[in-house]
Amino acid sequence: MSSQTKRIMVVDGSSVSRTLLTRMLNEELNNTEVVSAESAEQALKFMSEKPFDLVTTALLLPDMDGLSLSRQIRNSNKHSYTPVIVVSGDADTRLLREGFEAGVTDYFDKSDGYKAFGSFIRSFMQRNSGLVGKILYVEDSKTAATVTIKMLEKQGLKVTHVTNAEEGLTILIANDTDGENDFDLVITDFYLMGKMTGGDLLHAIRAKLHHSQQELPVLVLTSTDDEQTQVEVFHAGGNDFVTKPIIEQVMIARVRALLLIKHQYNALKLQAETMRWVAATDSLTGVRSKRYLLDNGEGYLRESAKEPVWGMLIDIDHFKHINDSLGHITGDHVLADLGVKLDDSYKDGMVVRFGGEEFCILFRDADYENAVRRAETLRAEIEQLKPGGVDITVSIGMCCSEDHPNQPLTRFLSLADKALYFSKDNGRNQVSVNTVEGPLQINAAALQSAG
Ligand code: GH3
Ligand code: MG
Ligand code: MG
Ligand code: MG
Repeated sequence: MSSQTKRIMVVDGSSVSRTLLTRMLNEELNNTEVVSAESAEQALKFMSEKPFDLVTTALLLPDMDGLSLSRQIRNSNKHSYTPVIVVSGDADTRLLREGFEAGVTDYFDKSDGYKAFGSFIRSFMQRNSGLVGKILYVEDSKTAATVTIKMLEKQGLKVTHVTNAEEGLTILIANDTDGENDFDLVITDFYLMGKMTGGDLLHAIRAKLHHSQQELPVLVLTSTDDEQTQVEVFHAGGNDFVTKPIIEQVMIARVRALLLIKHQYNALKLQAETMRWVAATDSLTGVRSKRYLLDNGEGYLRESAKEPVWGMLIDIDHFKHINDSLGHITGDHVLADLGVKLDDSYKDGMVVRFGGEEFCILFRDADYENAVRRAETLRAEIEQLKPGGVDITVSIGMCCSEDHPNQPLTRFLSLADKALYFSKDNGRNQVSVNTVEGPLQINAAALQSAG
C-alpha cells in the first residue's frame, strides 16, 4: 500500500496559489498525483469519485470556510480519516480555538514560503504513511472479527485471525526465530472460548516467549464495565486496551501508536547492530578489527579443548618501502586487497587487522601438518597475488594450542610473534612455527616431499 501512488488534493480559490502549491508538491514528492480544486464543492465531488491520502485547504474558500470543509470530510463515511491541512497566512487564533473540533490535522503557515510548504507536506506524508505491519488477531466472536478485520485491512494491515488463544500461541511460537517474531502486533480479545484467556496469552508472550512491550506490543479488547480486567492487562504487560464495542477511530489510533513503538524499536535495533558491525570491522580491509579480537579472541582460544587452535601473525615485508616509493594510497590498496585474500583463505577462522600492516588469524585445525602446509600455501599465493598491483611478500609466524596449552590470548599471540620475528631474521618471505622446542622454520621443499 505504501508503495502505491499517493493522491493529494490542493483546495484553494486562487488560481495562482493553486498553481504554486501544486508545483511545489510535484517538485518535492515522488509517486504522487496532485489534484487541485477551486471550491469546497468541487473538492467534495473529487473525493466522492476517488479517495485522497491528504487534503490541503485554504481557510477562505469561495463557497465555504476551510474549517467547514474539514468538518464535512470528518463527518463523511468514506473519508473520515483523510488528513486535512489548513494552509493560511493568519489563522493562528481561529485554528487554535476551532481547529481541533473541526478535525483539522495540521496547519501550515503560508508566511514560511511556498518552498517550505513542499518539505512540510513531504515530512507529513512520511510521518503519516499508511500503516504497515503484520497483526495476529485472536477473537472468538465471528461478528466482531469480521468488522475488526475489515477495519484493519482497510488501513493496509496484514491480519492473521484465529479464534482461540491456544492457536494464537502456537502460531506465535512457529513464527519466532532467534528471539524475534514475525508479527508486529497482537490484538486479543480477553474472554475467549478456549481454556486460555487473552490475559493468559499475554502472559505467555511476556513470560514464556520473553517479548518485551516494544518487541511485540499486545492490545487487549475488554468490555467497558470491566475495570478490574483492564488493570490486570497492564499488570501482565499489555500495552493498551480497547473497549468493546469497538470504535473504529479509537482502534486505529491505538494500533497506529503501537506499531510506531514497534517500528521505532526495530530501527533502534538495526542501528545498534550496524554500530556493532562498524566497531567489529576494520574499515580499510574489511576484516575484523582489533576490538573484535580483544572481545572474542579469548573465548575462541578457550574452546581449544575441543580442537586445537592456531594463532598466526602475517606481516608484510618492507612495507615501509612500498609506501615510500609508491605512495600511501597505493599502500592502502595493497592492505585492502590482502585483507580480502586472507578473509577468503580463512573463512573458517577469525581474520583480524592486528596493526598497521600486520594481520592475525585464529583458526582451528587438529591436523598439525595440514595447518602448517596451509600457511605455507598462503605465503606462496601472496607472493603471486600482486595486491593493489604491487609485488609483495609476507613473513608468517604461528603457534598451536597443542604445543602451548592454557595460554591467555596475549601470551599465545606473543608466541606467534616470536616465530614471526624468526621468519624476519631468517630473511623474510617464509613461515615459522613456535614449537615446543622453540621457533622452527618451515621448509617449503620439505613439506612438498612430505605431502
Ligand atoms: P618489515 O619487513 O620489517 O616488516 O618492514 P616494514 O617496512 O614492513 O615494517 P615497519 O614496521 O618499519 O613499517 C610498517 C609501515 O606500515 C610503516 C607504516 O607507515 C605503514 N602503515 C601502517 N599502517 C598503514 C596504513 O593503514 N596504510 C598504509 N599505506 N601504510 C601503513
Ligand atoms: Mg470473546
Ligand atoms: Mg612489515
Ligand atoms: Mg609490522
